[in-house]
Amino acid sequence: YFITLEGIEGVGKTTNLNYVRQCLEERGIEVVVTREPGGTPLGEEIRELLLTPRDEAVSEMAELLMMFAARAQHLFAVIEPALARGAWVLCDRFTDATFAYQGGGRQLAAEPVAMLERLVQKERRPDLTLLLDLPVEIGLSRAHARGKPDRFEAERVEFFQRVRDAYLERAQQEASRITVIDAAPSLDQVQRQIDQALARLERK
Ligand code: C5P
Ligand code: MG
Repeated sequence: YFITLEGIEGVGKTTNLNYVRQCLEERGIEVVVTREPGGTPLGEEIRELLLTPRDEAVSEMAELLMMFAARAQHLFAVIEPALARGAWVLCDRFTDATFAYQGGGRQLAAEPVAMLERLVQKERRPDLTLLLDLPVEIGLSRAHARGKPDRFEAERVEFFQRVRDAYLERAQQEASRITVIDAAPSLDQVQRQIDQALARLERK
């Protein structure tokens, strides 16, 4: 199976990714844990280019194409080979992040993202996406406590509001794949929601 984790800054993606990994490994499943943008040497270089704050204004289209350039390499070198040998792939962000950040946040809208999704991924889609959801103010205050913001984290609250809205809209459109997890309660309660989503995946 191909599982992705999504959400705005500060929702607890990393903590919960480790939790999912642990749940699967305890059951003897081979899990390949990876992230976007990144996951390959070329992709990690693209990630650096994308995240480093710069003086030059960056075209939204250039940003979008770099995300998909990293993704094409990631699918080719990591995701498809792992799935082909029967491993599970657990990815920190995938194309829903592009719908949310470049489509929503940067206001490119969904259509150019959907076009590239078809071009780059063919039929490949995650089997399950866990969308960790929190009000923007809470997420950002947690994320900012981590220190120096990257090129995205430095955006204004309105940007993240659009990102969150676009994520939630996708969750409605793709309700059978995307499970919205309320990330506000205690970690314990968040993880119980994740357990339920994983159990549902295997009943499919
Ligand atoms: O997941 P992580 O926070 O490490 O991602 C790094 C940054 O890349 C995030 O700030 C996120 O906003 C940004 N990003 C993006 N578009 C994507 C994927 C990630 O803007 N498609
Ligand atoms: Mg981050």
